[in-house]
Amino acid sequence: MPRWLAEAIAVPAAAQLAVTPVLILMSGQITPVAVIANLLAGPAVAPATILGFAAAVVAPISVEAAQILLIPAGYAVGWIITVARWAANLPFATIPWPGGLLGLALLAMAVAVAVPLLRNQRCRAITLAVVAGVLVASITLPPALSPWPPRRWLMVMCDVGQGDGIAIAAGPGRAVVVDTGPDPTPMDRCLSDLGIQEIPLIILTHPHADHTGGLPGALKNRRTGAALLTSHPTPPPITQTLTTHKIPQWTATPGSQWTFGPSELTVLAPPTAPPTTHTTTEGTEINNTSVVLRVRWRAGSILLSGDIETEAQAALLTTASPAADILKVPHHGSARQDPAFITAVGARAALISVGSDNSYGHPAPATLSLLHRSGARIYRTDQSGDLAITDHNTTLAITPRN
Ligand SMILES: [Zn+2]
Repeated sequence: MPRWLAEAIAVPAAAQLAVTPVLILMSGQITPVAVIANLLAGPAVAPATILGFAAAVVAPISVEAAQILLIPAGYAVGWIITVARWAANLPFATIPWPGGLLGLALLAMAVAVAVPLLRNQRCRAITLAVVAGVLVASITLPPALSPWPPRRWLMVMCDVGQGDGIAIAAGPGRAVVVDTGPDPTPMDRCLSDLGIQEIPLIILTHPHADHTGGLPGALKNRRTGAALLTSHPTPPPITQTLTTHKIPQWTATPGSQWTFGPSELTVLAPPTAPPTTHTTTEGTEINNTSVVLRVRWRAGSILLSGDIETEAQAALLTTASPAADILKVPHHGSARQDPAFITAVGARAALISVGSDNSYGHPAPATLSLLHRSGARIYRTDQSGDLAITDHNTTLAITPRN
């Protein structure tokens, strides 16, 4: 290896080694890609910092001059973000490691074993060859190493465009379906990719086309047990489709509970007497009758909130605790969100099912900002395609398809 390259790698490697004990204590994982990511991002750090600072100094005197300085700073920051995204998506970007003092002790033992081995020239050459081989294989063979769906998937938010379509694991070849998106084709595609042949329960949260239009695609060649509908009258085309397929239709009532495979479903809303909606639009009124569900797994829970808006969100807080590890953001991230509801859910991840460049302006910037402030990490189907929730060492993890 040339001396300059060895020195270039040595600096980020040393920095990574120095912070690894702290990262183990905090996050319980090792990030082997950090060295190469820091090596690639490093040259952009100085221009981004110096030009950004210079723009902050110049801005009070001349905003135009500051904007000129920010153009190259923006390119530098963009490069850092690109490298970070690329590295985070690599297989083995992070390796789970026990957190806390136990993890630290195990790391010390691993180092104590590795250092004498790596001092031996032959061992070092073998280790380098194995690491290089794994790195090359993991970069060149991503499809083989990251098949879809990911192992131990518990839920998939299907990329159905502007709408909702969700599959909840209910045992091999089976899924509970919550909404079906606006079109049959993407819903059928998503369920076929998951190998779903049977739907023990299909839930239509409310009778809007972006949640029910794909119903024929979900039912296509799949045995379906029953349909759960909201208390708001369901339009004849939907009920006729269900009747044609001989699917019994039930009305959701709070407190109803089912267990299918690894998933336990509980209906939280709408209440038997729906909340009075002091708004003018019929759309909002129907959105507020959405069936709201909490799904629990061994590793955590998600709140599936349909399209409820501020009135139904506030009403839910008076009848049930909506707390969950993950929130399906109501109404595709529209602006009508109750901050008290978002706080009460307390989710660490927020999933938004939304079509790119939709005419509604979903998700609203104010809602994204509210979710950021709540501490939730945001995932969007328009940016990531299908989103899977998996059981990752007994905690929930989210795997974007793209
Ligand atoms: Zn909707």
